[in-house]
Amino acid sequence: MFWDESIESLERTELEQLQLHCLQETTRRVAARVPFYRDKFAELGIAPGSIRSLADVRRLPFTTTADLRATYPAGMLAVPMDEALRLHTSSGTTGKPKAIFFSREDVNNAAELCARSFVMTGVTKKDVFQNMMTYGLFTGALVTHYGAEKVGCLVIPAGPGNSERQLMLMQDFRTTFVHLTPSYALYLADFLEKRGVQPRRHLALRKAFVGAEPYTEETRVKIEEGLGVDVYNSYGLSEMNGPGVAFECERKNGMHLWEDHFLLEIINPQTGEPVPDGESGELVLTTLCREAMPLLRYRTRDITSVIPEPCECGRTHRRLNRITGRSDDMLIVRGVNIYPQQIERVLMGARGIGRNYQIRLEGLDEMTVSVELAEAGFDGQVEHLVTLQGQIAEKLRAEILVKPRVELVPPATLPVNEGKARRVIDNRKL
Ligand code: ADP
Ligand code: ZN
Repeated sequence: MFWDESIESLERTELEQLQLHCLQETTRRVAARVPFYRDKFAELGIAPGSIRSLADVRRLPFTTTADLRATYPAGMLAVPMDEALRLHTSSGTTGKPKAIFFSREDVNNAAELCARSFVMTGVTKKDVFQNMMTYGLFTGALVTHYGAEKVGCLVIPAGPGNSERQLMLMQDFRTTFVHLTPSYALYLADFLEKRGVQPRRHLALRKAFVGAEPYTEETRVKIEEGLGVDVYNSYGLSEMNGPGVAFECERKNGMHLWEDHFLLEIINPQTGEPVPDGESGELVLTTLCREAMPLLRYRTRDITSVIPEPCECGRTHRRLNRITGRSDDMLIVRGVNIYPQQIERVLMGARGIGRNYQIRLEGLDEMTVSVELAEAGFDGQVEHLVTLQGQIAEKLRAEILVKPRVELVPPATLPVNEGKARRVIDNRKL
């Protein structure tokens, strides 16, 4: 199940040689064409021809989100504007977005990486792909769309939401795989359950590629049960083409990062120094073959670690562990560092609990975790609710070292978001 076996299982030494060659090229190109990098190199005294080994990447400057905003709209472009074929912007926060340009070659490469990623889980041209990512300025939908077309699948550009219509399309066109966010996957699972649809019996659905926001192993299990599929983790970010940076193979045990296209480093986000192999830190990526907008040492802010052992599938590209959050996702509550994923792990592992939750911070560090009960979770006995509430609060305290107020609410009463979920509401007056 290889899309391009020779590159996917290229010997490490050859792969690293290829990386070095591309890194040297990229360094020269940005020095010649992008004023931002030319100035940085001058400031740091870096001669563009002085990269001799992969370790030399550490001499190069980081690129941050702030740099992308400061050079908006086209300051990072390394080709004449008429060579740019497509513009995407990143989703997310307020203010100006980050503008990402693609050349013809970049558009093709992005699709290629998605094709590889789908095929390594067994997708073939016989498959039917219902794409539930958001179409538009985001990279999420278009890049996966063209990747699946490259494989030869029938692609249904459904977008997220409108679950009634999703169900109709899945039934009428015998959809076999989807790409969607974990929050919409959980919502869709709820919807199917309410409609009495048993996915394994009534649908042709077999696989779901789930990504665009962090989720836990416990959530993977819930989605697999709720949609009757195998869930494969899918990671990407607009700054690096979008989806297709790293995907799980059929082993579902960490995501192969396509190292012929991206040079990876894991650093300590405070010091900027590399962390030992296998330890967790911030993922930093350098594009190796991007034409329109090469980026050096881009600080993704995503926290993960490398799995040093080779994968049983035979691919030589190293795997990343699940992204546990963003370095800027971290909440500090009563002086304790907390990642929302720690809370999710406890909730999704608890019995009687449904699929949606929300974390609210108010006043002076008061934390409330609201969570929906499972459809069949409440037997009408109030004392059972009180016990459940106490158990969850206790488990949370053991995990995050702060005891939040736990609020159990009826199924389907918390707000749902069809794009990226808004799990944390911080109204603290600190
Ligand atoms: P924005 O950075 O504005 O949210 P993107 O839509 O490009 O724009 O989102 C990319 C980010 O989404 C990644 O940096 C990461 O934080 C998150 N993300 C994407 N895929 C995953 C995944 N599989 N697991 C965890 N987080 C993910
Ligand atoms: Zn593998």
